Amino acid sequence: MQLGWIVKGLRTGRVTTRYPAAPEPQPGLWRGRPVLDPRACRAADGCRACVAVCLPDALRLEGDNLVLDYGRCVMCGLCVPACPAGALRMEPDYELAVTRPADLRVAVRLGSGNGRESDGR
Ligand code: SF4
Ligand code: SF4
Repeated sequence: MQLGWIVKGLRTGRVTTRYPAAPEPQPGLWRGRPVLDPRACRAADGCRACVAVCLPDALRLEGDNLVLDYGRCVMCGLCVPACPAGALRMEPDYELAVTRPADLRVAVRLGSGNGRESDGR
C-alpha cells in the first residue's frame, strides 16, 4: 500500500509552488482588492454611492467615517464603477493577512472638503 503511494507521488510530480519565496502568478480574471483614495472621495459632500452597492457592508458609515473593511469585503468590485469620483480602484494584491483586525480597516473622515485616510492601510 505504501509503495503505491510513493509511486503515485512520483507520477504526480511537484504540486506546490515557491510562494512566498517567489510571487504567485495571478489568474487572468483576478480582480484584487478595492483601494480607496481619500483625496478623491466625495463622502464629505454626501456621496454614498459605494455604500449603496456594497452588499456585505464592507463600505459603510461609522460615525464620522466612511470605512472600507477588508475583513468583510468579498472583492466583487461593484463599488468601483459605482463611484462617481473615481476614488475607488481594484489593485491586484493578494497578501492581505494582518495580525490586528484593525489593520483591515481604512477610514475616511467625513467633514468639510475631501476626506483623509485615518487608519488602516
Ligand atoms: S469590492 Fe465589493 S464587497 Fe468589497 S467594498 Fe467593493 S462593493 Fe463592497
Ligand atoms: S468612495 Fe466614491 S462612491 Fe464612495 S463615498 Fe467616496 S466618492 Fe462616493
